[in-house]
Amino acid sequence: MATNGYEGGLKMIEELTTNAEQIQDEVLREILSRNAGTEYLRGFLHGQTDKQLFKKNVPIVTYEDLKPYIDRIVNGETSDILLAEPITGFFLSSGTSAGQPKLMPVTAQVAKKWELFRGLYESPVIKHLVDINQAGKRMELMFARPEVETPSGLMATSVTTSIFKGSGFRASLPKLYTSPSETIFCPDPNQSLYCQLLFGLIQREEVVMIGSFFASTVLRAIKFLENHWQELSYDIKTGRLSHQITDSRCRNAASLVMKPNPEQADLIENICNCKSWDGIIRKLWPKARYIAGICTGVMRQYTAELEFYSGGLPLVSSLYASSEAFCGINIEPLCKPSDVSYTFLPNMAYFEFLPVKNERDESIEMKSNDEDTELVDLVNVKPGRCYELVVTNSTGLYRYKVGDVLMVSGFHNNAPQFQFVERKSVVLSVDMEKTSETDLFKAVTEAKALLNPLGFILTEYTSYADTSSVPGHYVLFWELKEKEGEHCKELDPKIMVECCFRIEESLHYTYKIYRKRNIIAALEIRVVKQGSFEALMDYCVSKGTSLSQYKKPSCIKSEEALNILDSRVTGKYFSPKSPL
Ligand code: AMP
Repeated sequence: MATNGYEGGLKMIEELTTNAEQIQDEVLREILSRNAGTEYLRGFLHGQTDKQLFKKNVPIVTYEDLKPYIDRIVNGETSDILLAEPITGFFLSSGTSAGQPKLMPVTAQVAKKWELFRGLYESPVIKHLVDINQAGKRMELMFARPEVETPSGLMATSVTTSIFKGSGFRASLPKLYTSPSETIFCPDPNQSLYCQLLFGLIQREEVVMIGSFFASTVLRAIKFLENHWQELSYDIKTGRLSHQITDSRCRNAASLVMKPNPEQADLIENICNCKSWDGIIRKLWPKARYIAGICTGVMRQYTAELEFYSGGLPLVSSLYASSEAFCGINIEPLCKPSDVSYTFLPNMAYFEFLPVKNERDESIEMKSNDEDTELVDLVNVKPGRCYELVVTNSTGLYRYKVGDVLMVSGFHNNAPQFQFVERKSVVLSVDMEKTSETDLFKAVTEAKALLNPLGFILTEYTSYADTSSVPGHYVLFWELKEKEGEHCKELDPKIMVECCFRIEESLHYTYKIYRKRNIIAALEIRVVKQGSFEALMDYCVSKGTSLSQYKKPSCIKSEEALNILDSRVTGKYFSPKSPL
């Protein structure tokens, strides 16, 4: 089903959200009628397709519960143990939060669903931001992930890679995007980024959007440009690609379009040579109308820095999606990143919601334990409440906990809108206390304000629960940068110690009580050299995560990742006293 232009897309959004309840019922009915005979569902439904029976008998599961079935398919057993439709391969989730990528079955339907989803999430953007009569290209930075062959002979890859491989997408590339497919599929992420920036600069007068899937990738590209603009403008001046680029397919693609353009190179050099990079994106791409990239969840820490480079261009988070399902779209693309809500589309999967008790929000009433675990249908969620998303899809996931916590911010027609709260699994804990991604974000936001007078800004952070000694303690890795124009300032240890204390003070009550009772030892900040988080990203990419998919972990779980940061520590600071 095509969306037939952006007006068609907007109309479809209205229809879908108005008929949300009925569409959800149809989606579930179709999934059950196709798959009730699979080994997995037969065990719970005995061949029946009744919704109430599904709700009563089919358990709520995590990846670990389904893994034995998925592993059997990966190892060559027929996929109809989980789903009736033949599978075409597997999706690999990024695995940056869980540490290990997860494999999910994929069918031919998924690509079609993505095309529809894309048409729908782009419609509000086109309405508000891009004049459809204005010809232009998107400088969207895209990175395919190498495919992995499974013992079944089927390939596993990321959702984004499978989208890039789709014939519809490939056909649209030369007309709509600045990056040729050779650069997107280049196996070396740095060569890929260099070439995509080069193509974006060569076509700078045509670019109407700069973006990537996540905001962090756009920021990484700007930082990469800070280090490579001389080389890039030299290439544009001479019409010859740098010898550093050895990938033959990228070289071929470049040779087709590059010709000496000293005037353009001079303009780029003048812009990049400026003392301040404030607003650099708008200066380099003067016709750009917006910056696209998800700025919610773990990505919100990048918005301030991106705003600095953007020159006032709006930052647009268009969609909320995962390897499990395409879920929601942002129908108000011009709203502030902190206010972004995603309107769920009822035709994408069958969505249920597990109420989440927020320990620190007393306004949320949870009546009995039984009720806590009762799933709520899409149309019955309550504004202001938090839920964990549970998905049933057509590719073998039934009542599957995605691990994301969402808060209902309102409704569009009959479909709820959600703000992304956090990944459920990302918590720091050294005893019985639980510190969430959001708790940490709030506390770090309080503490980093102390760095302002020092002339430093916090560019990246992550955390780690160090339980190697007793009592254990929280460790935060901080990467700092001097503010523009403030060179060679010293990092004052007193202020860093104060930052540690401010974080502790801003954390939740249980943390503070445990600190007071010495169940948790003093919080530590380890300052790392500039570029350390890039090294962490490189490591994850070398392990198979694509740059398009990479989300920096809020909490470090793997030994190797920890070593990467630990080996770059330049200073360690501890909180001087208990916060209570
Ligand atoms: P993956 O497992 O690699 O498919 O990544 C999907 C995950 O990325 C989701 O489950 C979310 O945790 C995160 N994610 C995707 N879209 C958004 C968004 N708009 N805001 C915040 N987090 C998101």
